[in-house]
Amino acid sequence: MILTYIETRDKKIKKSSLEVLSEARRIAVDLKTEAAAVLLGTGMEALAADLSSYGASKVHLFDSAPLDRYSTQDYAAALAGLVKKLSPAAVFFSATAMGKDLAPRLAARLGVGLAADCTRISVQDGSLEFTRPIFAGKALLAFRLTSSPQVVSLRPNIFPAVPAAAAGEIIREAVEIPSAAARAEVTEVLQESGGEIDVSEADVVISGGRGMKGPENFELLREISALIPRSAVGASRSAVDSNWIGHQHQVGQTGKTISPNLYLAFGISGAIQHIAGMSSSKVIVAVNKDPDAPIFKVADFGVVGDLFQVIPPLKEELKKLRS
Ligand SMILES: Cc1cc2nc3c(=O)[nH]c(=O)nc-3n(C[C@H](O)[C@H](O)[C@H](O)COP(=O)(O)OP(=O)(O)OC[C@H]3O[C@@H](n4cnc5c(N)ncnc54)[C@H](O)[C@@H]3O)c2cc1C
Repeated sequence: MILTYIETRDKKIKKSSLEVLSEARRIAVDLKTEAAAVLLGTGMEALAADLSSYGASKVHLFDSAPLDRYSTQDYAAALAGLVKKLSPAAVFFSATAMGKDLAPRLAARLGVGLAADCTRISVQDGSLEFTRPIFAGKALLAFRLTSSPQVVSLRPNIFPAVPAAAAGEIIREAVEIPSAAARAEVTEVLQESGGEIDVSEADVVISGGRGMKGPENFELLREISALIPRSAVGASRSAVDSNWIGHQHQVGQTGKTISPNLYLAFGISGAIQHIAGMSSSKVIVAVNKDPDAPIFKVADFGVVGDLFQVIPPLKEELKKLRS
């Protein structure tokens, strides 16, 4: 069995988890096994049906009040217990912030290795072979894990989420929460006002760098974002370090790793640490007045020009498309 950890936010399944479940199903066929899912929280039963429509043969449900809010220790304890009970061949996570927190903790609890942030998985001679970018995206590493179960996280937005009917039998699981003395508790989850989509989850990311000249000009990018569904505003570290925009928008080695369908870079030079976070975007468009800017080496389309002259007509065209 391949077990997929399903991440939820505001009682909704995250798209990246459906991508992971779809890939788990594809791999399960090659391994001649089944793809199961695990959900933790409260009031999750309705979501289990959604998982069966993405190919989960079984949905293991931990419905318990202490799990209502994410806690590394409690979630890792519940998952470790389930893994010991089910002995899956692999446990798949999405390499989101939560997945990056939880997958290594589970691997450590089980005393096994971790294949983190994979962009490709294949079955070779009956075992899993993983591919992941290394050296800030300069090279790809293909490797296998020798331990079992194989704990794996998959980069969001790389694998397609493909619906497929399955039984989706719901199995209720009981959880033992560690004693309070040994637990760190999340007391409050703060959300940025405005309900913006996170850059790592957006289909389109419109990013600005030092070439934006100041915080007020990020408003231009927000105006473009308002015209594109499921889009978000991103930034280079220079823009973030200058306090032009919050760190949660930073793309790159010390920011977020993203793979949107479209990445628009305005006034970003394309330093290797920035490229590391966005090179797996499906289509990259760069606007830079310097024809030698390194960003053009990774861009599919480039405009050599002043971004302040490019943005207004782009906005007008987008408005026409919207109407
Ligand atoms: C350990 C480490 C980690 C790092 N992590 C990250 C990271 O996560 N993310 C990240 O982004 N960086 C990161 N950096 C910083 C990185 O090295 C670069 O300094 C940074 O990405 C540069 O940001 P920038 O492209 O906005 O600025 P610059 O390099 O200054 O580029 C600005 C660009 O704007 C163009 N421009 C200026 N005016 C206009 C205009 N009017 N119209 C069009 N183009 C214009 C210029 O031609 C230039 O190419 C890291 C660095 C280190 C050492």
